[in-house]
Amino acid sequence: MANNEDSRGLMSLFDWFANRRKSGSTNREHQRDIADGLWNKCTACGVLTYTKDLKANQMVCQECGYHVRVDSDERIRQLIDLNTWKPLDEHLRPLDPLEFRDRKPYSDRLRETQEKTGLVDAVQTGLGQLDNLPIALGVMDFRFMGGSMGSVVGEKLTRLIERATQKRYPVIIVCASGGARMQEGMLSLMQMAKISAALERHRAAQLLYIPVLTNPTTGGVTASFAMLGDMILAEPKATIGFAGRRVIEQTLREKLPDEFQTAEDVLKHGFVDAIIPRTHLKKTLAQLIALHQPLPTTSPHLAQWEAIVKKNREQKAGSRDSEVEMGGYPSS
Ligand SMILES: [Zn+2]
Repeated sequence: MANNEDSRGLMSLFDWFANRRKSGSTNREHQRDIADGLWNKCTACGVLTYTKDLKANQMVCQECGYHVRVDSDERIRQLIDLNTWKPLDEHLRPLDPLEFRDRKPYSDRLRETQEKTGLVDAVQTGLGQLDNLPIALGVMDFRFMGGSMGSVVGEKLTRLIERATQKRYPVIIVCASGGARMQEGMLSLMQMAKISAALERHRAAQLLYIPVLTNPTTGGVTASFAMLGDMILAEPKATIGFAGRRVIEQTLREKLPDEFQTAEDVLKHGFVDAIIPRTHLKKTLAQLIALHQPLPTTSPHLAQWEAIVKKNREQKAGSRDSEVEMGGYPSS
């Protein structure tokens, strides 16, 4: 280290990093620092950032805009106003009805993942406020078996949507999933239909649903609730698709372009409505929800509008076009 120290025995931060990169032993220390979570090395641009700064920027690289994957706790913190989060259905626990085993029994895999993540299954659901607007929020967690959708994910999301329909809340679901959970076989596949049916009842009640597609959103989740939004938002560069890239390449026997199944490419083809950087997500959601609120019945604009409608009706009543109504506007 001494060779880079200046006359005052100090060295620049740049030299310090350069030195650490050069030396094998400090490299290991440095790796440990990263592992300890003090520093974070960007997967995309390789720049080191102090984890605290990265967190302050919602885990988005300040250098290149790369969106580091965040877990469900962090996502809830980012979206929900402080002290307003009320989790739902935390008691629902996954079972192993098929007694499935691959390399290890499903029940062992579940227990290990639960211990490692502190989660019961791959989604957290609850009610809370987003910029003072009440919402029903579901957040999938990729750490839990790749965010796979089993019975608990399906049941929790369905109950969340049903609760939102009763309370007339908008629903937001942050998706992150490798697809259906094969260890639950058909039971996991039927969740697609169950959640979709609950969303249809929510839609029929003229309520707003916005899925936010994060990296990755694939398989059965894409084939159901991820694509059923009134507005479908995605994070930059997120992988969004149904079947995996390799499977498609092998089936078609052709090389797919690099941008295939990225949020940007999917946007171009009309499957998502907007790509919103994470640092703008909360504000954007708040604007969309506010836009979708019904007009307050006491609004002075509403009174003016009603007066115009009434006048038009009276005029039309005397004319030949009396059967023409102002479409869809409630008459009282
Ligand atoms: Zn970066």
